[in-house]
Amino acid sequence: MSTHAKTVAVIGAGPVGLAAAAHALERGLIPIVLEAGADVGHAVRQWGHVRMFSPWEYNIDGAAERLLDAVGWNSPDPTQYPTGAELAEHYLAPLAERSALQDHVRTSSRVTAVARSGFDKIKTKGRALAPFELRYQNGAGSRILRADAVIDASGTWSSPNPAGANGLEAVGEAPARERIVYGMPDVLGRDRARYAGKKVAVLGSGHSAAGSLIDLARIKESEPATEIVWLVRGETPEKAFGGGGKDELVARGELGARQARLVAAGGIEVQPAFRVTRIDLDADRLRIGAESSCCARHIVADELIVATGFRPDLSLLREVRLSLDPALECPLALAPLIDPNEHSCGTVRPHGARELAQPEPGLYIAGMKSYGRAPTFLLRTGYEQVRSIVADIAGDRAAAERVELVLPETGVCNLSRADSGARGCPSTGAPA
Ligand SMILES: Cc1cc2nc3c(=O)[nH]c(=O)nc-3n(C[C@H](O)[C@H](O)[C@H](O)COP(=O)(O)OP(=O)(O)OC[C@H]3O[C@@H](n4cnc5c(N)ncnc54)[C@H](O)[C@@H]3O)c2cc1C
Repeated sequence: MSTHAKTVAVIGAGPVGLAAAAHALERGLIPIVLEAGADVGHAVRQWGHVRMFSPWEYNIDGAAERLLDAVGWNSPDPTQYPTGAELAEHYLAPLAERSALQDHVRTSSRVTAVARSGFDKIKTKGRALAPFELRYQNGAGSRILRADAVIDASGTWSSPNPAGANGLEAVGEAPARERIVYGMPDVLGRDRARYAGKKVAVLGSGHSAAGSLIDLARIKESEPATEIVWLVRGETPEKAFGGGGKDELVARGELGARQARLVAAGGIEVQPAFRVTRIDLDADRLRIGAESSCCARHIVADELIVATGFRPDLSLLREVRLSLDPALECPLALAPLIDPNEHSCGTVRPHGARELAQPEPGLYIAGMKSYGRAPTFLLRTGYEQVRSIVADIAGDRAAAERVELVLPETGVCNLSRADSGARGCPSTGAPA
């Protein structure tokens, strides 16, 4: 039997990737984190201006904290809510640069492909014994890393969903890009001049859309010429308001409540059932259209913010064997827990190696990417995922199976059918 310490390649130095590396180090494994960006927390820094709705106590992984404590970390107040930038600066950067992880992280290293050494996807016999081969690009060109296990924690930030209601880009969307921003622009800071005094359409019903709408409403207080149009794909906007006071994450509940108040006060024009099909740049303004077999309507705006969520980039996993849910593009066993078609719970039964393992032995998808297209991921969930995955890689089945997590309820849990067993809300005690 081999006694060498296993090498664990981790794709992405976001909060979950670094937590995976911390757990691996604690267990005597050799983690190597490959990060595409120039700094750790590259994706988090893109939304650095956004204040998180979960306080520090939810945002720090246990193994990472132990590594930081060992080097005299000045830990933040657990009750405070960091911005993305603060999460990167006060937690991720010291973890990667000052703790025992410092020799295990390679930045500016973008993974382009994962394969099994000497085995193409078809070949089976002996496959599980072959090491993984990760192809990555750094400043010096194309590189190869061999590893016994791979945890893909590369997130979804760099592949936002397009505006088109059918999941494709709307006709004309690409040529109109100069007037479109995806995700959550820094409306009150860096991008203020872009939006102040303009007519701005926001498309989407999640937390990012809510955040942008609230920020635009604040601009409108000092620049009354600013017009805000909220494009909602659903028949009514109410679903987007969340659990309000029932949400156990107070800041998350307050986000929806503030959005509801702004809509009620008339500061935001709502266009329900607006399913974008085409976007035209017309005399420097956007003509955003929603056409169906029965009818067509459009609005004209100066700017469009598309906050319709994200999807995983699966291209780097093309040469390994995957089993993903056909709708959500998440690991198959996870889909019943998070499918937004069946329930709106932000609360998900804790899960780990068993649900996240792929048919390719030693390969796991974790963090934001593990949720595929589902929108309800929480960092705490990701930390539990990688604790369990690393235990599995280390051969500690008991620890891999153990559940060590209690998640806050969202206060919303609308089942679409009474039977919550197969693909409904997990048994968290959330009201059905
Ligand atoms: C605006 C916003 C606010 C949020 N607020 C909260 C909150 O309050 N509480 C909460 O619990 N969750 C929140 N989330 C959800 C989630 O916890 C975060 O998105 C979190 O950053 C996910 O961590 P991650 O490590 O899985 O992925 P990411 O943070 O996205 O990290 C992935 C990393 O992988 C790198 N990468 C990507 N592709 C490659 C590649 N091919 N090769 C190498 N590296 C690669 C990226 O550069 C990035 O650094 C929020 C999300 C957003 C977008």
